[in-house]
Amino acid sequence: MPRTRLQKCTVCGAYGLSETCEECGAQAQAAGPMRFSPEDARADLRRKLKQVESKEWASNLPSSEDEEE
Ligand SMILES: [Zn+2]
Repeated sequence: MPRTRLQKCTVCGAYGLSETCEECGAQAQAAGPMRFSPEDARADLRRKLKQVESKEWASNLPSSEDEEE
């Protein structure tokens, strides 16, 4: 018996057993603990820890202007 995991639509949130949502036809993925979640309450905290919003972090990013040099 193949292992079947409950799938949840990434768009409308409908549950099903197919990787394609039966409700809207969008992609569904295994329900349950996910490594990445758009509803991750700690996402903002992680961004702050990495200081991605700081000017110093942005200045370290390679820009298109530098590549033309
Ligand atoms: Zn759907």
